[in-house]
Amino acid sequence: MTVEVFAVGGYGEAGGRNMTAVRVDEEIVIFDCGMSLDKSLVFEKDFQKASARELRRVKAIPNDPILRPHRSKTVAAVLSHAHLDHIGAVPKLLFKYKCPVFGTEFTIELVKADLRNEIRYADEAEDIMINLYTVEPGDEVQISSKLRLEFIPISHSIPCCVLPVLHTPYGAIVYACDFKFDDNQIIGYKPDYKRLKQLGKEGVLLLITESLRVAEEIKTPSESVAREMVNDVLRFADEESEGIIVTTFSSHIERIQAIADTADRLGRKVILAGRSMGKYGRIAEELGLLNLPAGARIYDRPETIRRGLERANKEKEDYLLIVTGHQGEPGAVLPRIVDGELPYRLTEEDSVVFSSSTIPSPINRANRYVLDTKLRLKGVKMFKDVHVSGHAGREDHRLMLRMLQPEFIVPAHGDPDMLAAYAELATQEGYEVNRDVFIMFDGTKLSLPL
Ligand SMILES: [Zn+2]
Repeated sequence: MTVEVFAVGGYGEAGGRNMTAVRVDEEIVIFDCGMSLDKSLVFEKDFQKASARELRRVKAIPNDPILRPHRSKTVAAVLSHAHLDHIGAVPKLLFKYKCPVFGTEFTIELVKADLRNEIRYADEAEDIMINLYTVEPGDEVQISSKLRLEFIPISHSIPCCVLPVLHTPYGAIVYACDFKFDDNQIIGYKPDYKRLKQLGKEGVLLLITESLRVAEEIKTPSESVAREMVNDVLRFADEESEGIIVTTFSSHIERIQAIADTADRLGRKVILAGRSMGKYGRIAEELGLLNLPAGARIYDRPETIRRGLERANKEKEDYLLIVTGHQGEPGAVLPRIVDGELPYRLTEEDSVVFSSSTIPSPINRANRYVLDTKLRLKGVKMFKDVHVSGHAGREDHRLMLRMLQPEFIVPAHGDPDMLAAYAELATQEGYEVNRDVFIMFDGTKLSLPL
């Protein structure tokens, strides 16, 4: 009777290379396989061309050799959602486990897109083949004689996020990375409170949970609030602006939809520009998740981006651009426009809207400082923080905890302060550190005291 948790990655950093493995007796199940957004930004080589060894060395992908002795015992891997810090390392690592990989359609389609890219650089395409399986929320899959997976729908800042549940002979293990409770999300899933409460009654052995915003004493506002903010700011900007540029997360399909709908109501044509805007936007369109207004265009290759911006630059007041670069990352569209590398000239008659928040890491802060300063020097009107988070606040976490009533808790996906803040909440709720709530860091292993 053994249940072990392997904190492979994402324990001790925000936006990190999330990967957790759980061993139930002899069998292993992997949850997520992400890349560190920060580390890949500073990595001097193209991510696709780099080897797993190189990427592990710079801490850009999970340090999975800790699982090597158990590799052949891995019965499944599950992907909770399609954010890169949860799926970005799949093409680099998961093929070695030769196990089925489960995720919802949007997640699996994005993994396939990454794999197609990766295959271009692999010696043999078969070397990195992965068996991908699409699941629907509510589905259950028997992965071995003793283990069963269930996928509970949940809301987050990307479509089709699930809480994977591993049913074991010793109780359920719930992997709650990432989530928020949003009953007014339009695209993707709504939280299934009924099933979560029922699960709590059936018996949850372990909750592995994200902890990014647990220190904030709030219930994270709904995306409907962001929709209203977008509408308010864009209408205001439209009164007195020639060009309007909005920058947001390419994976935040619901936000892109809200921005595009508002642009349409204002009589502006929509252009999505940037490589990742193309990747997420096209897949979301194919799956019917994103419905861009008539006449909208997606430009994701260098020459089409250039041509699209050239056209928009001639009739600025007729267009609204949705572009990459909200973290100020060099190479993305907005920083390149600001640096004069793309044919769209910014003046004091233009507005730039950040429908995002800065992911709090030193490199992002530095990049944003540079971008903001350059925008100010151009006299551009700036609208920041037109955004609500996709991550659970303290009260969302408390609700999850009370519904599930887990026997044990492992906070994940957070820096040391965030993990500690979760432990503090758990303590308030009657748990005790090192008795039933355990703080783990990358590369550590925990045997549950069953
Ligand atoms: Zn996420």
